[in-house]
Amino acid sequence: MFNLVLFGPPGSGKGTQSENIVTTYNLQHISTGDLLRDEVSRHTPLGTEARKYMDQGMLVPDEVVIGMISSKIDDIPDARGFVFDGFPRTRTQAEALDKLLEFKHTKIHLVLSLEVPEQELIKRLVTRGETSGRSDDTEDVITKRIKEYHLKTQPVANYYNAYGKLEPVTGSHSIADTFKALSKHINKYILPVS
Ligand code: ADP
Repeated sequence: MFNLVLFGPPGSGKGTQSENIVTTYNLQHISTGDLLRDEVSRHTPLGTEARKYMDQGMLVPDEVVIGMISSKIDDIPDARGFVFDGFPRTRTQAEALDKLLEFKHTKIHLVLSLEVPEQELIKRLVTRGETSGRSDDTEDVITKRIKEYHLKTQPVANYYNAYGKLEPVTGSHSIADTFKALSKHINKYILPVS
C-alpha cells in the first residue's frame, strides 16, 4: 500500500491535484471537505452539525471528522493506497490517522505540501466562489479559513517533518507543472498505471 497526504492551505490546489494523482496511480481519493459537503447536502445529522462550523470557516470537531474517515477507509479494504486531501488538519487528527493505519498494518508514506503565496490563495478562492456555489467561498469566510489554517493546521507539517515525511512542492505554477513536481516524489514509491 502507498498512502499520501496532500497538505496545504485552502486554495492551494489539493482537490485538483488529488484527482490527477488518484487517476495516474490508481489510488483512492479521500477528501474530508467533499465528504462533509455530501453529508450537508443529504441533510444527515452529521451534515447539520458540520455545517455550523463550515459556514463560519471553522474546523469541524476532530471526533466527527475522524469517525467519518475511519468508516471511509473501512469501506475500501483492497485499495492500492489512499490520497488524503484536507485531512489531517489538526495534530489530533494526524495522531488518529497514524493509529487507524497502524491497525491496518500500513502507514503514511509521504506528505506533499503545496506552497502558494497568501495573496494568490485569496485570489483563487474568491474566483472559485463566483462559480462554486460553496457557501464558505466568500471573502470574510475565506479569511477565517486561512486564519484557522495557520493556527491549527500548520502544526501538522511539523508533526510529519519530525518523521522526515514532509516534502514541500511549489503550488503556484501551472496545474501540469505542479503535477510533474508532485509525481517526481510519488515515483520514488510507486509507478503510474496510466
Ligand atoms: P478548503 O481546503 O478549500 O478550505 P475543504 O473542502 O477542504 O476546503 O474544507 C471545507 C471546510 O470543511 C473547512 O473549512 C472545514 O470547516 C471543513 N473541514 C474539511 N476537512 C476538515 C477536517 N479534516 N477537519 C475539520 N474540518 C474540516
